[in-house]
Amino acid sequence: MYQNQETLCPKCGSSDLGKGKQNGYAALHPVNKMSFGSDIEYIICTKCGYIIEGYVKKPEKFKGTMY
Ligand SMILES: [Zn+2]
Repeated sequence: MYQNQETLCPKCGSSDLGKGKQNGYAALHPVNKMSFGSDIEYIICTKCGYIIEGYVKKPEKFKGTMY
């Protein structure tokens, strides 16, 4: 992978990508923790709708939720 290479959708090959955001009630919440959730940001193919990448905006909130 080259740094400046254009990202293509692995499903349909389109380079027409968009950015989406999930917040409010759709935010991702840590398991077993009384805590506010974190917004999620997505890189989405605007042609077929495939989610190429998804980022939790505050990953530190999910530390220690596995055990
Ligand atoms: Zn696609």
